[in-house]
Formats: sequence, C-alpha cells, structure tokens
Amino acid sequence: MKASTKNSLPKETPEDKNRRVQKIIQILDHTYPTTTLALNFTTPLELLIALILAAQCTDARVNQVTATLFKKYRTPEDWTGLIRSTLETEIRTTGFYRNKAKAIQECCQELVNRFGGRVPNKLEDLVSLPGVGRKTANILRGNAFGQPAIGVDTHLGRLAQRLGLTTETNPDKIEINLNPLVPDRAKVRFCHLLQAHGRAICLARKPDCPGCPMNHLCPYPVQAKITLPAKRNRS
Ligand code: SF4
Repeated sequence: MKASTKNSLPKETPEDKNRRVQKIIQILDHTYPTTTLALNFTTPLELLIALILAAQCTDARVNQVTATLFKKYRTPEDWTGLIRSTLETEIRTTGFYRNKAKAIQECCQELVNRFGGRVPNKLEDLVSLPGVGRKTANILRGNAFGQPAIGVDTHLGRLAQRLGLTTETNPDKIEINLNPLVPDRAKVRFCHLLQAHGRAICLARKPDCPGCPMNHLCPYPVQAKITLPAKRNRS
C-alpha cells in the first residue's frame, strides 16, 4: 500500500483491499470471539421459519416466540396443518403477523409439494420459495448447510458501505461486491462479525468511530469528518 495523506486510507489495489478485509476479520474475531447468528435454531426448517419471522422484528423477540413454537411444530406439515388464525395469534408479537403466517404456510406447502418436505440447500431452489430472497437463502446456506455464503442484512450492508467495500446500496449487488473480497472459509464468520460490530459500535445513527478497534482500516471517519485518537493512522 502506498502512503497517503494524513487521516485518509491509501488508494487501494484489489489485493490491498483483500488484505484489508483479512485484517478487519482478524480484529473483529478478536473483539467478538464468541459471536454467532443471533437467531436460535436446530434445523434448516427452524432457521427458515425464524428468518421469515425476523423481518422488521428483533432477533430477541423472534427467539422468544420460536422457543415455544419449535417445540410444538417440527415438520412442514405441522405448519401447513395449522388454522391460519391460530398461527397468526402465535406469532402476533413479531409484527406483520398476517403476512408472516401466510409466508410460513405457503413456503412449507412448497417444501412438501416440491422438495419432499425438506429445505433445499441450493440457492436457486431456495429463492424459488415464496418470500425467500437472496439474503434469507444465503443466511440459510451459510448457517444451516455450512456453505460459503454472504447474506446481506441491514448491518452488513451499512458496514460494507462505510468500510468502502462497496458503493452499492442494493443488497444483492453488495453481496456480489463482497464475494471476491472474503475468502470462502471466512464468509459466514465475516457476516456474524460485521453484524456484531453493527450492533455494538458501528450503529446506524451514531457509530462510535473513535472507540472502534478498526478505525484505522475504515474511510468513514474521514468522510464523516469524525476526529479520531492520534493512534488512528497505525498500519
Ligand atoms: S470506524 Fe466508524 S464507520 Fe468505520 S467500522 Fe468503525 S464504527 Fe463503523
């Protein structure tokens, strides 16, 4: 990397950017050693249901609701066999409960009709399910099937932009930008780490850049004219 002006990141080659991502992963790995996906699940189906419920809802609330639901309903047929109004009542506290109940039952019906009652693990199959987009599909692939996949949620998208890893705003395009920057073996971990950092320090409204352990690797403070401690320019 060439030296650059004070308080500014050097102009990067693609290799430089790859190295910067590696350093980001190292620092966040040290900062959040135990972080993992915040949604509780034990099977791909449970994660699929939890992800549907997580739209516009906190992970903590979803975990509260699914703690009871997952004991009662274990197969796609269990979910499709429910009277719609019963399901709506059970998931009411997650918000948008009518849409979510419909999505859960339609999705489970498709699993029964087309996939033998199992959640598929291929991206093209997952996104063919009602209400399942690339974000949900990739979170499933990464966390339930152990595949190298980046599911771009709101935290990941915001941090990727602030860190200068993408200029896109569309989550699907952000995913395309991130894929070559993050080694396959680290893709799922990278998502968990950035989500943890987005919740703890790099908040949407007021990121704590002076207190951020990777502020020397991030162009955002300079762009936002945030004054950092003197040690910021360490390489
Ligand atoms: S320096 Fe600021 S914007 Fe960059 S990752 Fe840290 S908290 Fe977020």
